[in-house]
Amino acid sequence: MVQMTSGASKDAVRVGFIGIGNMGNPMAGHLVKAGWKVTVYDTDSEKVRSFTSAKGGSAASSLAELAKDANVIITMLPDGHIVRRVALGKNSGDDSLVKGLPKGAVIIDMSSSAPVGTRELGKDLSERGVSLIDAPVSGGVKGAVAATLAIMVGGDKALAERHDSLLAAMGRRFYVGALGSGHAAKVLNNYVSAAGLAAAAEAVLVAERFGIDPQTLINVINASTGRNNSTENKFAQFILNGKFNSGFALGLMAKDLTLAMEVADACDVPAELGRATLELWKKAEQAVGGAADHTEIARFVNEQKI
Ligand code: NAD
Repeated sequence: MVQMTSGASKDAVRVGFIGIGNMGNPMAGHLVKAGWKVTVYDTDSEKVRSFTSAKGGSAASSLAELAKDANVIITMLPDGHIVRRVALGKNSGDDSLVKGLPKGAVIIDMSSSAPVGTRELGKDLSERGVSLIDAPVSGGVKGAVAATLAIMVGGDKALAERHDSLLAAMGRRFYVGALGSGHAAKVLNNYVSAAGLAAAAEAVLVAERFGIDPQTLINVINASTGRNNSTENKFAQFILNGKFNSGFALGLMAKDLTLAMEVADACDVPAELGRATLELWKKAEQAVGGAADHTEIARFVNEQKI
């Protein structure tokens, strides 16, 4: 993959950042710290207040107000349906970005959205003179705080390059391809991540019942060929200590798996393992709730009966 080069001037860009949650808060914070002009908006006004008092930037009280003052919008929202609603509204009376955004404005969707929906949204926005880039991220809250996220960029390449210096404040950029490609790469990455975490959780459970200490198995796997990001960065840190506090919700992981299988469908790929993985995560979501931390999948696997 090609790492991109830097571009846009801080004086010409006015950023509107929507979604100041677990990820958006540190990401928008880096933009403010790097000297970009940033206005934030979230339906949870308390998050907006605590962001501006701790990190600076300005606050907007509606999407239309945010849009009037911005020429680049960044969205870091739960899913692509919400991004679409925020951008276009659902009914004519809805608060939305298109009511205020100037022609020539750009929306950069950093949420993990549905790749096919992103292409549709791009078409609908272009009819209103607004461009769309997808730039979802991997690296979790830890990567967001450290500004070391992997940012997977899709869309018009020249446009993406013009906004690269903005993205550079949050992590490493990888141009993936046409609009929606970043979102496709992201959900496929999360499929591999979700499968790896579930596989390790099953292995730890079997090991424990066989009389092997779970941490010992993790240590062995981490020195062996079975190691993955979950064995290295999740078991000791969030699971075996009972904390389950990685900051990434189980429902969001189940959503990403669903989207990955939708892309597989669109590309006529059976993806048998992916579908079995999705079933397991859906069952876990039903049992523990979507708001639970995604590392709770290990607890769910532990409590399952044959
Ligand atoms: P979060 O729930 O902590 O944050 C989402 C924010 O969006 C919340 O503050 C919520 O109030 C706000 N929001 C919801 N609807 C809104 C609307 N209509 N208008 C304005 N604000 C609205 O979620 P998060 O963990 O920060 O994840 C955000 C996105 O990043 C998701 O798509 C997720 O899949 C993805 N992601 C998360 C992680 C992680 O580790 N948490 C890692 C990579 C990618």
